[in-house]
Amino acid sequence: MKEDKETCIFCRILKGELESSMVYEDELCVAFMDIQPVNPGHVLVIPKEHVSYIGELNEELGAHIFRVGMRINKALRKTDVRCEGIDYFLADGEAAGQEVFHTHLHVFPRYTNDGFGFRFGPDYHYMSPREVLDATAVKIKAALK
Ligand code: AMP
Ligand code: ZN
Repeated sequence: MKEDKETCIFCRILKGELESSMVYEDELCVAFMDIQPVNPGHVLVIPKEHVSYIGELNEELGAHIFRVGMRINKALRKTDVRCEGIDYFLADGEAAGQEVFHTHLHVFPRYTNDGFGFRFGPDYHYMSPREVLDATAVKIKAALK
């Protein structure tokens, strides 16, 4: 479900109407602490522009958001925040788990037995037949043109 700029939580953070713990800002994006961290050190990188979905984002801006996410990675590893690995996560669409419809990249520390994990569907353990993989690859390849 799309939100407009007036009610969007992240736009309100950008306007200073809601509090945040900022870690980074430039002309295109900001990064701040997630209010409900998966693990301590959980950061969100968002464009300043209100864009709901990745498909609506200018590619250069998308690349810039990931660039900042890479810098957050290096920064986290320099802190004393527990961080044996780092997950990147971006939910694009409600069915993908998106709850805030101002696109954002999650960057969060991981460590052994931190309790976080993905839950797989019942068919996940089946290896897909090659012809099925090939048929899907053909469709995606054609759509990329
Ligand atoms: P998603 O499910 O990918 O849309 O994630 C939305 C994220 O935004 C969640 O991890 C929330 O904890 C986070 N969040 C929601 N409201 C705030 C807020 N006011 N400040 C910081 N993070 C927030
Ligand atoms: Zn917004």
